[in-house]
Amino acid sequence: MIIVMQPDAGEAEIAAVEAKIRSHGLDVHVSRGTERTLIGAIGDERKLDPEMFDPLPGVERSLHILKPYKLVAREWHKASTTIDVGGTRIGGTDVQVIAGPCSVETVPQMEAAAAGVAAGGARLMRGGAFKPRTSPYAFQGKGIEGLTMLKNAASRHQLPIVTELMDVRMLDTFLEHDVDVIQIGTRNMQNFDLLKEVGKVDVPVILKRGMSATISEWLMAAEYIAAGGNHRIMLCERGIRTFETAYRNVLDVTAVAVLKKETHLPVVVDPSHAGGKAWMVPALSCAAVAAGADALLIEVHPCPADAWCDADQALSIPEFAQLMQRIGALAVAMGRSLASPVAGATREPALAV
Ligand code: PEP
Ligand code: MN
Repeated sequence: MIIVMQPDAGEAEIAAVEAKIRSHGLDVHVSRGTERTLIGAIGDERKLDPEMFDPLPGVERSLHILKPYKLVAREWHKASTTIDVGGTRIGGTDVQVIAGPCSVETVPQMEAAAAGVAAGGARLMRGGAFKPRTSPYAFQGKGIEGLTMLKNAASRHQLPIVTELMDVRMLDTFLEHDVDVIQIGTRNMQNFDLLKEVGKVDVPVILKRGMSATISEWLMAAEYIAAGGNHRIMLCERGIRTFETAYRNVLDVTAVAVLKKETHLPVVVDPSHAGGKAWMVPALSCAAVAAGADALLIEVHPCPADAWCDADQALSIPEFAQLMQRIGALAVAMGRSLASPVAGATREPALAV
């Protein structure tokens, strides 16, 4: 951190800043120019904050030199991280697809969804048992029963499961139900107590981007999880709020490129919650793969019109199968490949994009 002193700052003011830096265990380097004195803090500057110095007499401003995140930064960990979920690697050469309904509804719905997404080539299955709904009167999810339904349906097709954890009190239940990947939703990206708890468990996490979060805030949220010891984190771009009202959210494809540079963690894109309409999902999926996404998280329902949640954005099973062929061809064009379906499931050969 560098503290820039005002032109007329006196020796006593400079000494006070030095003392404050030393009181946090860092060393000091003072540089006296012709017009200004700059005071550098030497050591782990993440312990310091501009708020500590800006109010002091004689200080003009103070600024961090290093990025505020460390464990998740590529600066400190050059190689890309790959995360193994039940034998499926996310973050490697293969593009992975996670698919399933927005919410777990019934046993037949889950059985049909699991069979459909496995046949389409998804390697993980999603499904919300606890749903964050805008209205308290809307369907809130099947709860614990939903976890069982998701696990049973997915297991029959050797698909690990991804499901959202909203409440820290449910964490033990998630572990008991062998949830393979814990999803932290957009509304909880900065629920720091929740992040600290998932940081202590040995289960991979998909951390969705807060709908109004900057990339730096998002990476700091990931840093919370990593700081607890859990380094198996995937970041999921799911669209952000802007002035545009023609679609649900704006898929920030730029964020994919920035994340690949800034962090070693795998990047997932959710085209379903971004566009909010099923017809947009193929275009946004292709944009995500072209931008370098490691995985897609796609909502698929055996009968979209009957979905209890997010009906407008769910792909049908045939639509999903068709999209997987496009993604397969595009992945190859990008020097990657789409992971092959789980054993026993078959997919049609890739068509031209
Ligand atoms: C979801 O994936 O079902 C979901 C609620 O997503 P988000 O948190 O991105 O809105
Ligand atoms: Mn949804």
